[in-house]
Order: sequence, then C-alpha cells, then structure tokens
Amino acid sequence: MQQAWCVGLIVFALASCATGKYNAHNKAYTKKVKSAARNMTVRPDRFNLPDSIPQPSGTAGSSHFNLRKPNLVVLHHTAQNSCHTTVETFLNPEKQVSAHYVICRDGLVYQMLNDYLRGWHAGTGSWGSITDVNSVSIGIELDNNGSEPFPDVQIQSLKKLSLLLKSRYNIPTQNFIAHSDLAPGRKVDPSSFFPWSALAREGIGIWYDTTGVQVPADFNEHVALKVIGYPVKDVTAARQSFRLRFLGSEQTGVLQTEEQRVLYALMQEVLKM
Ligand SMILES: [Zn+2]
Repeated sequence: MQQAWCVGLIVFALASCATGKYNAHNKAYTKKVKSAARNMTVRPDRFNLPDSIPQPSGTAGSSHFNLRKPNLVVLHHTAQNSCHTTVETFLNPEKQVSAHYVICRDGLVYQMLNDYLRGWHAGTGSWGSITDVNSVSIGIELDNNGSEPFPDVQIQSLKKLSLLLKSRYNIPTQNFIAHSDLAPGRKVDPSSFFPWSALAREGIGIWYDTTGVQVPADFNEHVALKVIGYPVKDVTAARQSFRLRFLGSEQTGVLQTEEQRVLYALMQEVLKM
C-alpha cells in the first residue's frame, strides 16, 4: 500500500513537472500581450500626432474597427533534429526568433503565438510589394532537419492547419509561400522534399499546368518572377528559389526550356487570380 502511494506521488510529481515546464514562459507571454494591449488603448487623440500637423481640439475615436488579420502564411523547416529543440529555441531569449506554429514529425502542433501577434520568423525579405513580411504573416515551422522527407502525418496536420487559417482569415491561395520565396539567396527552406504540388491540389499555394503552354519569343524571366512575387534585385537568387519551390531542383545556371515553360505557366496562373 505504502509502495503504491509512493509510486502515485512520483507519477503526480512527474505530471506536475510536465504541465508546469513552460509556466514561466507562459507568464512572460501574457505580460507582454497585456503590455501590447495597453498600447492599443491609447485614444486616437492629439498625443499621437506632432504639433506640426494641424489638429482640432478634442477627440473623435470611432468604434468601427476590429483587429488587423494575417494575410500571408510562410512555411519553414526548422533545420533542427527535434520538436523539443525548436520549441526551446523559440523560448530562448538569446535567439529572438519565433513562429506561430511548430508542427512536429508526429503531427502534433504547438501554437506558440496568437495569430494576431507579429512573430519573428521571416527576417529580411519581401514578397510582391510586402516588405515587412512579419507584420502580415503567420509563420509555420515544420520539424525537419532539411535533408529528409516530411512524414505524411506531419503534412496532414499542416494541411488541416493551413485550410483552417485560409478559411478563418480569408488568405488567398497564392499567399501560402516558402521562406525561400521571400528571401532568395538567404534561405532555402522548406527543402526540395516538401510536397508543394500535393498541397496545391488542396488549395494551399499556387501550382502550374504546362499542357499546351507556348512560351512567347519575347518572354521576360525577370518580369515573370516579379509578377509571381519574388524579390528580383538578385535575379539569379530569385531563379534558384523558383527552382526549389516549383521544380524541387537545386540546379544552377540559366533556365532550360521546360523550366521556362513552368515559369511562364505560373505567371499566367497568377495573372488570372
Ligand atoms: Zn525559415
């Protein structure tokens, strides 16, 4: 009986340990959210504008608003060997990085930030005319070391989560992108193992059909990459990100005829949207 009691105590202690493991981080999270919320309670009165801008006396705060919504989803691979390591990284104050969601190899999904908060996952880069990607996006990290396939159970969770976010915030199909898309030459995630075409069939990210597509003689690769959304300051890097995402290729050099057909077909898809 006494032995059973001891075993029970140990089990209880372990369970408490497990549930309370991130208590300090959760408290810090709540404190920071409250601080951000306090900023939003500042009335839109003359204190927000400098005196050099003419303003009437008194305030006229309208109550016709809601919170701004995310409109872009950026997919990443963690380049780490376990979900636990990634979660710890996103809690480490020295790292100063985060993501809204981390999807483990076994399909478990950690939500680490409220969707309305600005996570720190994209870094320097742009997509279309968006130059502050973190401000408009949700970051999803897939636990993967970068040189291995993504388990089906993990992709199934990603699919469910992506469709939920797409529906909840009315995110356009073409606004599900890779980290490598917005940061060519700097980022190469998710890797060529990532099943973009399968996800596109579910409405997550754009894809192409080259059937019957003829590339015009005056086709401009630079313009096509830009129309799709790629930053083209470094066209060579943008071309590599395009290859990784849509051809699963890490080949370098100028685009071959078939690759040009894919790029042209994608541009046509985007122009139709
Ligand atoms: Zn990334």
